[in-house]
Amino acid sequence: TTIGDDLAATVAAHGDREALVECASGRRWTYAELAADIDAVALGLLGLGVRPGDRVGVWAPNCAEWVLTQYATARIGAVLVTVNPAYRTHELSFVIGQSGMRTIIAASSFKGADYAAMIDQARAEHPALVDVVLIGEPSWDALVTSGRAADAAVLDDVAGGLSGNDPINIQYTSGTTGFPKGATLSHRNILNNGWFVGELIDYTQHDRICIPVPFYHCFGMVMGNLAATSHGATMVIPAPAFDPVATLRAAADEQCTSLYGVPTMFIAMLDQPDFASYDLTHLRTGIMAGSPCPIETMKQVIDRMGAEDVSICYGMTETSPVSTQTRTDDSLDRRVSTVGRAGPHVEIQVIDPITGEPVPRGVPGELCTRGYLVMLGYWDQPDRTAEAIDADGWMHTGDLAVMDDDGYVSITGRIKDVVIRGGENIYPREVEEFLMGHPDVLDVQVFGVPDERYGEEVMAWIRMRGDAAPLAVDDVREFCRGRLAHYKVPRYVQVVDEFPMTVTGKVRKVEMRETAQRMLG
Ligand code: ATP
Ligand code: MG
Repeated sequence: TTIGDDLAATVAAHGDREALVECASGRRWTYAELAADIDAVALGLLGLGVRPGDRVGVWAPNCAEWVLTQYATARIGAVLVTVNPAYRTHELSFVIGQSGMRTIIAASSFKGADYAAMIDQARAEHPALVDVVLIGEPSWDALVTSGRAADAAVLDDVAGGLSGNDPINIQYTSGTTGFPKGATLSHRNILNNGWFVGELIDYTQHDRICIPVPFYHCFGMVMGNLAATSHGATMVIPAPAFDPVATLRAAADEQCTSLYGVPTMFIAMLDQPDFASYDLTHLRTGIMAGSPCPIETMKQVIDRMGAEDVSICYGMTETSPVSTQTRTDDSLDRRVSTVGRAGPHVEIQVIDPITGEPVPRGVPGELCTRGYLVMLGYWDQPDRTAEAIDADGWMHTGDLAVMDDDGYVSITGRIKDVVIRGGENIYPREVEEFLMGHPDVLDVQVFGVPDERYGEEVMAWIRMRGDAAPLAVDDVREFCRGRLAHYKVPRYVQVVDEFPMTVTGKVRKVEMRETAQRMLG
């Protein structure tokens, strides 16, 4: 099955139901209307000369045209290259060249960034990029108009030649740990993943999903859009980029049943002074994922947002993305403190990163994933693909995990983030969870900084709650005294307003480490 086939089935079953709402403009589509617009864009792309396998970039914040482009490219078997809206000329140029992009569909500008001008600059270096279509500009209208006038029968001819195993999408990873890599994914990879994610939180055509996470990332386009369209549910776009107030307003006004976010987004929403004024009575589920989900935040999402069946997903771009997920009937404790069990048709194992042998249950090691969800490879990077996926098909995640006797997984952090202080391994996650228990702490990040004596020392960056007075290092040490092993207690504490983030809302510890090193001299 291809994404196009799956969408056709949804349109046949739920053509009159609402498919998409763009809150910023008030525009709405039923499934029948959405399918018609997707076909127009698909035919327009064919008219430009785009053929199956060609790379088509999309570079825009969340908007309806992004969704149309996602499904139009899938419909004709073009490979959608999702470009991070935060990129500037340097990164854009890299992605255009690395993917061999022939066509780009982009916003003309966003938040003061002139995308059109940046594309012009990048284009000078990449003559293979032949078409530039700007959303909201005459070039987009021309694409759609030409598509509407074209013979729609051509689409079925093209679709007939596609296979579910074809590459359909190149998604660059978040770049949390270094320069992004282009994970190449097939229809089979992402369509199944989106479907199963929705199955495990009981999606039906009655669900309305509030998606404030970026589409350019799998959280938005797979767990959001594909989960929605494969179940006939409604996609609600609260705003072009994450905004806590717009998200709360969309969830309330659109009577959303499901709400997505990385932990920092949920924290920001829960922290709004007028939080109680949003009517979230329709909210029953949601997904928190992308980085470690604090237990306290999960509890508040359940208690204060009323999202009783909120689920935690764990995964990575390279695995389409979700490999483990909590189930709605798991115990409350497991639902807030683990990332659940392997999804349907997914194998996971925990190995000793040195020997490669599986470790016993309860022992931490590197998590590996195998099954339909593992990417085809990194685009045009066979060496990096071979480093990540072993000969038996296991994707090595680079994440540390513990699996219990029943198969529930806890992520203890990234292998690269483990702090080694005087020979003791410290898992930042554990210290973060502990410090989140301080009533004045809104959010906290813990990482290692170089130290002459111990090799590394523990540093905590803290965001204070509301108008709480900033915590000094001695306050933090006092809070830890007698409750946390001495070597895990932060040696340095810094109160900050914000953490450095990726656009996907992940904290860039790499950047924090660099800044801290400079500050500590
Ligand atoms: P890069 O690979 O470019 O450094 P990245 O790994 O952040 O960036 P993604 O593919 O977006 O790129 O993110 C996958 C990673 O996010 C996982 O490997 C894991 O470290 C983290 N992650 C995802 N979900 C969870 C979760 N529920 N709990 C803890 N960590 C998570
Ligand atoms: Mg990664």
